[in-house]
Amino acid sequence: MALLQAAPGMNDVLPAEAVRWRALESRFFETAARYGFREVRTPLCEPVELFSRGVGEGTDIVEKEMYVFEDRGGRALALRPEGTASAVRCALEHAVLEREPVVRWAYAGAMFRAEKPARGRFRQFHQVGAEVYGDGSPAADAELLDLLGAFLRALNLTAFELRVNSLGQRASRQRYRDALVAHFSSARESLSPESQARLLKNPLRILDSKDPRDQALKASAPSVLDHLEDDDRAHFERVRAYLDALGTPHRVDPTLVRGLDYYTRTVFEVVDTSGSLGAQDALGGGGRYDNLFSEFGGEGARVPAVGFALGLERLLLAMPQTPPAGAFRVAVVAAARESDTAVLAAALCLARELRAAGLETHVDTRFVSPKSQLRRANEVGARAAVIVGQRELETDKVTVKDMLAHAQTEVPRASVAAHLRALAGSPE
Ligand code: AMP
Repeated sequence: MALLQAAPGMNDVLPAEAVRWRALESRFFETAARYGFREVRTPLCEPVELFSRGVGEGTDIVEKEMYVFEDRGGRALALRPEGTASAVRCALEHAVLEREPVVRWAYAGAMFRAEKPARGRFRQFHQVGAEVYGDGSPAADAELLDLLGAFLRALNLTAFELRVNSLGQRASRQRYRDALVAHFSSARESLSPESQARLLKNPLRILDSKDPRDQALKASAPSVLDHLEDDDRAHFERVRAYLDALGTPHRVDPTLVRGLDYYTRTVFEVVDTSGSLGAQDALGGGGRYDNLFSEFGGEGARVPAVGFALGLERLLLAMPQTPPAGAFRVAVVAAARESDTAVLAAALCLARELRAAGLETHVDTRFVSPKSQLRRANEVGARAAVIVGQRELETDKVTVKDMLAHAQTEVPRASVAAHLRALAGSPE
């Protein structure tokens, strides 16, 4: 029988790597908490409609990349391709904005998109994200971006660039859309077939095209910034002024449109500039989506909102590979034969006490010789081994072996934990 394998684009994370994942997520929530963001968790599956209405019908995500299935009750569900639509649904469903005027949420979790797998691009990938609801001010955008920068710096990432743009609100968007259609229609036939199809459905997305046939017309395309209504322009200028005041370097990129329909006004992307990510160099992105609440909840539910999401796999690829600090580990060695269950039980009890005292403690339960147990202790990186045998049971003392200094000491059983803690504190 062929060996079973994980589905393409869906990865296992083995323990050595999982330590880095956990550290990354904890660092994110710690940083976010300092900015007043609290964790929210939403389901992995949602009704398909949430994404087709939220993310947008004409987007790649909805058209080609969603994992859609029918559940046993005949409901059309999708594995979530992103976190924003779910978080907004959750905020509306639980009426959180009736209890507090401004909500700051952070999340982490798996997302699913049926994309062609490549380095830094997977079908199950993971994001951390942050969202602010109920604050339409440009300062909210700048604060959110400040959190983003603080998090990246906490990961020791320095080689990144923040690109910002504004798409305006509906009126600006419509004006710009018309200008784009006029521009691209002038040489329609020279565009790639995909961009020709986008011309009527979603002309902004032509600006995302990497197809060589589209590049010349793309370069001469009108800038969205020249089509912003006055209030949208003023909003964007203020976002930039706050970013400057906070010392956040950024570059205005008028071609930045992003692949989701719900954005209004500010959009941004953070790009890795170290070169270590190759083609998939976007670490994350986001923007303002002031219409999504009313899209889901009706006009009465209008709430300004802004958020970002970062890809964990890409952050891990971009982060410097610092070896994790070695934890202080202990191995309890049971000098017991198979019939000596009392000795093994005593070893298990001691291991349990040491764990309760906060020490990572390993115990080998296979009834192998003390020599192989000590070898195993070395393999797991134990700094000390505590040997328990019949003699130790009788004298109520145990032998502590310092695996680095190769020195052995007899220690009263009652003070093993204290002895080990002192060893943990001693320089190696
Ligand atoms: P988006 O939701 O498309 O704005 O994506 C935000 C971030 O999520 C990207 O910048 C990537 O870091 C990450 N991301 C999106 N799609 C994938 C994918 N298929 N595989 C890995 N990471 C992804």
